[in-house]
This record gives sequence, structure tokens and C-alpha cells, in this order.
Amino acid sequence: MPDLRPKRIADLIAPYRVEPGRRVRLPKDFDTTPGRHISRDQAEQMLEAGVGMLAEYQGRLAAQDTWAVLVVIQAMDAAGKDGTISHVMSGVNPQGVEVHSFKVPSAEEQDHDYLWRYAKALPSRGSIGIFNRSHYEELLVVRVHPQILAGERMPAASKRSDVWNRRFREINDWERYLSDQGIKIVKLFLNVSKEEQRRRFLDRINEPEKNWKFSGADAKERAYWDDYQKAFSEVLSHTSTEWAPWYVVPADDKPYARMVAAGAIANALHEINPKYPTVTPEAMASLQEAKTTLEAEAPAGTADPAAGADASGAAGAERKGPGQKGKRNKAKHKTAKGKKD
Ligand code: ATP
Ligand code: MG
Repeated sequence: MPDLRPKRIADLIAPYRVEPGRRVRLPKDFDTTPGRHISRDQAEQMLEAGVGMLAEYQGRLAAQDTWAVLVVIQAMDAAGKDGTISHVMSGVNPQGVEVHSFKVPSAEEQDHDYLWRYAKALPSRGSIGIFNRSHYEELLVVRVHPQILAGERMPAASKRSDVWNRRFREINDWERYLSDQGIKIVKLFLNVSKEEQRRRFLDRINEPEKNWKFSGADAKERAYWDDYQKAFSEVLSHTSTEWAPWYVVPADDKPYARMVAAGAIANALHEINPKYPTVTPEAMASLQEAKTTLEAEAPAGTADPAAGADASGAAGAERKGPGQKGKRNKAKHKTAKGKKD
């Protein structure tokens, strides 16, 4: 059984966290491969245990209904964004998670300020939101291709050369506001090497069932690799904050990358440490009353399997630590946010 104590998880992800104010230069400052040896089996075991832990935390996050978690994922093409999302979130109640993928802005989106579409997609309290690409595209693809900025319908003064510093500030301020509001932000940059991207692109071309994943546009974007490395370096240097840190996840090895991603999200949830609401004495009295009524309705002569169950189930569940399985599959859900009954 892998060791998933919070301290162990914090240690695992620490080398990948960008300390606020640190000047980052890619590719030299962060490896794209795991820095230490860990077998594929070990990484997969850790991921599986981590997935169970996320599910347990998510149940408590929904029940507490106070905090939300926003996971921001940025990467070059073929770095494994989709696979990371599906593996890391595989155990979580789908009603408690929303994934938003951001593509080239629509005409309606272009009619608004640049953060508008991201603000609309933020997770509600009690849930986990995942941005598959995010507001950071406004500092990445838009910076790498100046004609995109030129085409944005802002006043000319807003497109002057200080636009990038202004966007760093605006995004940091916005994220600070969100975290003050109870949205905990975890930002993951899946850091794949140029050589590994080349191999994955070739796989997508050579294997017929992967052809759909590849488009000529991906190869064209690869030609801007160095510009993206610079743009990512700037983003990491200017927007890793105490309230919304970046993690640079080595992404050449998929199981390892998924394990680190799960660790960063679990760590954020641990920092929130959501609790099941405690049942007030009035609510407990009402539960007991309902219990008495339900038991009285049992057909004569039948043993009621529920009889004798502890009515203070929620309080009992609160004592369970994260990572303990067996509870979540029994949970019933009543709202679109995955709240437990
Ligand atoms: P996949 O290829 O795995 O389906 P993807 O995220 O690469 O996922 P695509 O449809 O291939 O999806 O690409 C989306 C494109 O939209 C990317 O090239 C991205 O840079 C671009 N994009 C995202 N946000 C913006 C933006 N604000 N302005 C301009 N382009 C953007
Ligand atoms: Mg793509």
C-alpha cells in the first residue's frame, strides 16, 4: 500500500512547484523526465491510491459546499492533457467535476473582455473545475502569434507593448480574488520534451486508431517550439503565486506525470481539508424521529436490515481519513454538484 500521508505527497510535488518570484528559464530549469527512479508499477500504484484519495476528498468538498477547486492545465500538443484528466479524475463522482476545454475564441467570446469566457466556466462551490487550456492561452498562443493580439477588438492603447506585464498583473489579481472567494487554484504545466512530442506525433500518424488525434496544425505549431518555451518561461516566472502556484510536471513519462498531477490536486484538497457538516442537535432529533417512523413501517415479521444503523452517519464518516475506500460507492447524490444526501 503506497504511503499517501499528506507530508509524503507534499514532498513528492515540492521539486515541481515554482516558488513565487523565481525566474524560470526553459528548457534548462525543469526536467521533462522524472528526476529519480520510480518504476512504472510504483507510479501506477501511487496513482491508483491517489485517485481513491481524490474521490474521498471530493465527497467532503461537495458536502461542505464552501470551497471549489480549479485545476488549470497547460501544455504543448501531445503532452498528455486529456489522458491526465481522464486518469486522475477516474474515481471522482462525475457530478462533482466539470471539464472545460478552451479553443480559438468564438465571435461571441471575442465580443467580451478576455477573461469573460473563463469566468463563466468557473466551478461552483463544492465542485472541482478543470480548465483544459485556460486564460493562460492569452499569454501563450496570443503572445507567440502577434496577429492574434492585433485581431482582438480591444482599444489600441490596450495592445501596447506593456500588454504582457499588464496581463500578468490582471491574471494574478483575478486569481487572488478567486482564491479569496474560496476557489483554490492548482496550475499544472505538463512539460514534455520536443523529442518526446516528435515521437508521439509519429505514433499518431503511424497508428490508424490515433490518426484522429493529429492535425497538420499541430505540426505547424511545433515550428514555434522555442517561442513557446520562452512564453511559458515568462508565464511561470510571473504568475506563480502563493495563492495560485504553478507545478511543472515532467511529462515524458505518462504514469509519472499523472501521479504528480494527482499529488498536486490532492495536496490542494488537503490544504482545504473539507469536512462533512456537523449535524446540529435539532437535525439529529429530526433524524431520530424519521428513523422511528420508518422502523415502525417495517412489514410485520420481516427483519429490517437498516434497523440499528447509526443515524449519525455523517458524523461517523467525518472520522474516516482520506484514501480509505469503501465509503464512496455507497454515497447517494442529489444535486448536479455531487452533494451527498
Ligand atoms: P486536442 O488537440 O487534444 O483535441 P487541443 O486543446 O489541442 O486538444 P485543439 O482544437 O487542437 O485542442 O486546439 C485548440 C487551439 O485553440 C489551440 O491551438 C490553442 O492555442 C487555441 N486557443 C486557445 N485559446 C485561444 C485564444 N484565447 N486565442 C487564440 N487561440 C486560442
Ligand atoms: Mg490540438
